[in-house]
Amino acid sequence: PARTRFAPSPTGYLHLGSLRTALYNYLLAKNTGGQFLLRLEDTDRTRLVQDAEENIYQSLKWCNLEVDEGPNERGPYGPYRQSDRMEIYKKYAQILIDQGHAYRCSCSKERLNNLRESATKLKPPTTVTYDRKCLHDPSVSDEGNDTVLRFKSPDSYEPFEDLVHGSLNLQPQYNYNDRRYDDFVIIKSDGMPTYHFANVVDDYLMKITHVIRGEEWLPSTPKHIALYKAFGWEAPKFIHIPLLTSLEDKKLSKRSGDIGILSMKERGILPEALINFVALFGWSPARDVPGVSANESMSLKEIVEKFSLDHLTRGNAKVNDSKLYYFNKHHLNENIKNPAKLDAIVADYYPEFEKLSDGKYSKSIFKKLLENLGPSLTTLKDIESVHSYLFRPNIDSSISIEIAETLASKPLSSFKQVVQELLEEKTELKKKDVFQTVRYALSGGTPGLGVPVLIDTLGEEECKERLLAFAA
Ligand code: GLU
Repeated sequence: PARTRFAPSPTGYLHLGSLRTALYNYLLAKNTGGQFLLRLEDTDRTRLVQDAEENIYQSLKWCNLEVDEGPNERGPYGPYRQSDRMEIYKKYAQILIDQGHAYRCSCSKERLNNLRESATKLKPPTTVTYDRKCLHDPSVSDEGNDTVLRFKSPDSYEPFEDLVHGSLNLQPQYNYNDRRYDDFVIIKSDGMPTYHFANVVDDYLMKITHVIRGEEWLPSTPKHIALYKAFGWEAPKFIHIPLLTSLEDKKLSKRSGDIGILSMKERGILPEALINFVALFGWSPARDVPGVSANESMSLKEIVEKFSLDHLTRGNAKVNDSKLYYFNKHHLNENIKNPAKLDAIVADYYPEFEKLSDGKYSKSIFKKLLENLGPSLTTLKDIESVHSYLFRPNIDSSISIEIAETLASKPLSSFKQVVQELLEEKTELKKKDVFQTVRYALSGGTPGLGVPVLIDTLGEEECKERLLAFAA
């Protein structure tokens, strides 16, 4: 059984990339009958985002990724929030000091900056910059303020095995003529451990067997392995999964998918569809069954059963939104056919529907609607957009006729201003009613272009004709 962990830093909302990391760790644990841990890596206090922790919990919960051990679930190897583990880091830092694997450094920022600058001027230049002055200076005391603890790094890092990439020998770019050392900081001057140190100590103490994380952590892995070695611990297995990119192979942007997971819910996406979509970013089920395609629709349970580290892929994973909609249509249809799941959708989405219909439609109407629209829906949002006629203005027809007639006699090119004037003149009218009337008169209520754009496109004359035809 594998023990895996998802170890986010609460520095932002859970997005597609981090959901994929969480999911793969979850899948491996569940596929092997092991445990899935959540550990909050919150030692970089300057980057904390206030509601990020809550967002992580809510996102995992919405996706049905149940955590076995974590800050809320507790468990035998806690605490599971790094800022609650300071005593533990202190103890393990001392072990490294006692064994000569770590030393205090009191170099000033200015000196370190100078070292960094001079290193860029070396031939070849190097990012490995420290000259070990403090390693050889007995006057640097443990108690000193403003000192950091450095790891005494090996002369070169060991090659390691990655389950996706095979054997890797990753060395920093050294300059062997002017030897500097990759003695990275493990405890910062504020007493907080760095990511490398806390991550390794925790993975060991929490008995993590497999570390699945994004490829951006590959360069850190040799450092982690050196730490395991210094402690005399066995390192877990490492699996670095490929970056997510847009279809054009670019870094994900806010527009091309890098958005908070919970905002997917607002877009009418179901968690089952999202999980199905994300599971296939770097993994595909074995192809021994004829006819099984990479577009296979699967439930979380089925994905757990099929998941295997043998079928991870190496190239960048391209995020194709149209696939998400494909899966959503499938899962929505399946869920609507399943009475328990249909009830869950009704419970979850009725409040929004109720609001849309201005309280006009009951829960049972919503349910009936879902049953009848079922196979035609791509997302739940379609009820609002494709089927907007359901929410047609419930305005008194004499009022909407009056609105249409009045507007037909005004210059529509400055539509917003005309509406403004109309509202000031007839204070009993609601802005919403005016817009709904015009939309209905111009387009029969079907969604599409916004009203001002519609007027601009169809032209003043055509629009006036339509308004008058509506009023007639
Ligand atoms: N805290 C790191 C992150 O934010 C964890 C990386 C790892 O899994 O080691 O992704």
